[in-house]
Amino acid sequence: MEKKYIIALDQGTTSSRTVIIDNKGEIIGMKQKEFTQIFPESGWVEHDPMEILKTQLDTFKEVINQSNIEVSQVAGIGITNQRETAVVWNRHTGKPVYNAIVWQDKRTAATCNKLKEDGFTEYIKTTTGLVIDSYFSATKVHWILNHVKGAQEEAEKGNLLFGTVDTWLLWNLTEGKIHATDYSNASRTMLYDIKNLKWDDKLLTELRIPKSMLPEVKPSSFIYGNYKYNGVELPIAGIAGDQQAALFGQACFAKGEAKNTYGTGCFMLLNTGEDLEYSDNGLLTTIAWGINDKIHYALEGSVFVAGSAIQWLRDGLKLIESASESEAYANKIEGENPVYVVPAFAGLGAPYWDMNARGAVFGLTRDTGKEHLIKATLDSLAYRVKDVLLVMQKDSKTQLTSLKVDGGASANNTLMQFQADLLNVVVERPEIIETTVMGAAYLAGISLGIWSLKDIENNRKLSSEFHSSISEEKRDRLYNKWLKAVERTKDWID
Ligand code: ADP
Repeated sequence: MEKKYIIALDQGTTSSRTVIIDNKGEIIGMKQKEFTQIFPESGWVEHDPMEILKTQLDTFKEVINQSNIEVSQVAGIGITNQRETAVVWNRHTGKPVYNAIVWQDKRTAATCNKLKEDGFTEYIKTTTGLVIDSYFSATKVHWILNHVKGAQEEAEKGNLLFGTVDTWLLWNLTEGKIHATDYSNASRTMLYDIKNLKWDDKLLTELRIPKSMLPEVKPSSFIYGNYKYNGVELPIAGIAGDQQAALFGQACFAKGEAKNTYGTGCFMLLNTGEDLEYSDNGLLTTIAWGINDKIHYALEGSVFVAGSAIQWLRDGLKLIESASESEAYANKIEGENPVYVVPAFAGLGAPYWDMNARGAVFGLTRDTGKEHLIKATLDSLAYRVKDVLLVMQKDSKTQLTSLKVDGGASANNTLMQFQADLLNVVVERPEIIETTVMGAAYLAGISLGIWSLKDIENNRKLSSEFHSSISEEKRDRLYNKWLKAVERTKDWID
């Protein structure tokens, strides 16, 4: 029977999904299950690793059962996952010693501050490409070893294993045979030397993490091992962290190509090719993927408040009933919107890095209506993306000509048009905005010999292109006003 399907496991922060993709790159089946978010204390976020595994396996089974395909027609599996989240488990029993500590978790902020005080900032930047933050896995593993009774000792005896979520799934799918991760996930641990491609001894020693706990690091497109399902051996043939998978799924294979995902927050990644570029503006340097003995690097910039500002319009201010309604309101405005919203709800990230900034609305007059506020909030996503894109271009010394977009809010045509106007680059939105899933499937499909990079490029169907329709003078005027608004939100709380 022809093996013409790839299965992508998309293990996200709030749900696990399994998607079937055929050899033409079409999605033919999808199942999704949410799982419990555990908040034991303020600022702490955990997941139960067994529930992650169960929801992933359940959706796998359900999607196979509801589709008309035979397992023997499946060529292999690709995995993409929420990044940085850390799991520690016993290699003999397979039991986690603690819940997974999620990327959003802030409990290790003090350990991070200590690393900064001890002078690790520059070392961590040049070795791992990252800024010291509780976001990454390193201090989470340190916390588990430090706080779970007997864990440090057991780890030193070689009885415990660490993994990001891809590794946890892989180890379980292969019945404990394979303990590995891919380059993109390793580069988010804050323990991996992204230049010399090895775990960093100095950081491991500093955080008392025994090397025996760490997974082997392999290419993103690679046959890791098999998952035996109903007697059929299915090769696990590709792994990448979610944002890197999206970059791949958007076919940003060449140096200088970038994608921006408009979700709850925005994540922009720029492929910098085989060159390691460091940022002077707080962007991260990360591994995009490793394929055929070659590593591609990326610069990454995030905006913490993006789609969530639209949720604020909906749930907080109750100005709209659904996120998509924002488009119709925005279209009511003729001419320029004099109102600016700076959604600095939790401070400002790259390139401002002002945690004391707070949100504000500017330019109100007696005739300001709700449509102005709604349009201004939508505009703020585009302005923040421009902020990040400008420093990304500066740090990488590249000039973008197009930006590939995906994520929930990229469905908004008014926002995408304004984005093209502001950036003066072509904004390209693909037909399938499930780019993360496609990235995982493509990485697997390449190592299985189903697709080449060229096939994937050809396969990418554009749904819409947005071109700038405003003058240089207007673009500058609008953006300068935005910069003025941002300036006035800075250093607000004492
Ligand atoms: P995530 O993966 O972070 O959960 P999604 O990619 O699913 O995010 O996108 C959801 C976000 O996009 C929500 O914050 C929502 O407010 C926003 N969003 C969805 N549709 C639209 C739209 N048509 N216009 C503006 N924002 C939207």
